[in-house]
Amino acid sequence: MNKQQGSYMKAPGFGEVLAVSDGVLWTRFKIPSKLDHINIYLIRDVDGWFVIDTGPASDENRELWRNLLANLPETSTITGILVTHSHPDHIGLAGWLQDYCQAPLYISAQEMAQAKLENQYRSAKDYSGLPAFYSQLAASAEDMQSLESVWEYVDKMFGPLPTDVTIVQSGDTLEIGGEDWQLWSSSGHSIEHLCLQKASGEILIAGDQIIAHITPYVGINYLSQEADPLAGWLAGLTDMLAWINPKAQILPAHNKPFYHGENRVREVLQHHQTSLEKLRGSLEQWRTVNELASVLGWAKKQGFARCMALEETFAHITYLVNTGEVICKADEPSGVLHYQLA
Ligand SMILES: [Zn+2]
Repeated sequence: MNKQQGSYMKAPGFGEVLAVSDGVLWTRFKIPSKLDHINIYLIRDVDGWFVIDTGPASDENRELWRNLLANLPETSTITGILVTHSHPDHIGLAGWLQDYCQAPLYISAQEMAQAKLENQYRSAKDYSGLPAFYSQLAASAEDMQSLESVWEYVDKMFGPLPTDVTIVQSGDTLEIGGEDWQLWSSSGHSIEHLCLQKASGEILIAGDQIIAHITPYVGINYLSQEADPLAGWLAGLTDMLAWINPKAQILPAHNKPFYHGENRVREVLQHHQTSLEKLRGSLEQWRTVNELASVLGWAKKQGFARCMALEETFAHITYLVNTGEVICKADEPSGVLHYQLA
């Protein structure tokens, strides 16, 4: 296998495999959004390939998987599947792929619980709480109109959940290809997002935890189980600085692989501090989440991006409430939340 390096490396086409690192293949699956791809990695195992993440559910992605599995180098056997977290581009095809490959599937306990919770809402098509959730964020009538279609669009990316899972957690080790891979997790982007790093320190598969050029989503949404995801996220990134090996090639779930993940972690920590500073600077008067989203530069976002902007703003302002810097009051009877410096 040829080992390519740095941000100049060519990305594989959808369903194509490229050797990215010693014993690791890189492929891409389709996401029907502006972020059009997810990176999937396959680690050479003793008797086959170990898969990290599965892609969103679609007929097209299932076909890509069938072709890819039939054409893998040396063997088509899948020895295991690890799902980094419960977002649909990662877990969407997990149930189908496990069924198709008959391989053990690894996931953290809280991600599996989150996936089951969301699955209940999808099965019931119960979106009744959405208007109340977004109206407390002072979402506009226009925002509200697009909300239900956003959720229906996201729901389509979930296939059946895996039914036979092996629960793993931070600190566990998986032996893949005769090498130890160490697991680590963080909350914030998702409730118990797993990353794995080869014990030799050369490769770190990062999921959505760190990505070049994209700052991972950290928000409070309708089904969030975390009361203060930004606190968990900042603590997780700080912990990650001690865990990450400075020589590791970072293999993220979106965009291209890169080196010196510790620098990217520091940039993201700084990004959130800058956002918090902007919010503090605008809270001499009472503000709604909608107004604060504009303070963070998200006034023009629409549709799905608008939802995420409101949810991310809500997470940042909630963090400041929990540190005691900001107070919150709810208007009666609308329930719209207003914030000001304490
Ligand atoms: Zn994610």
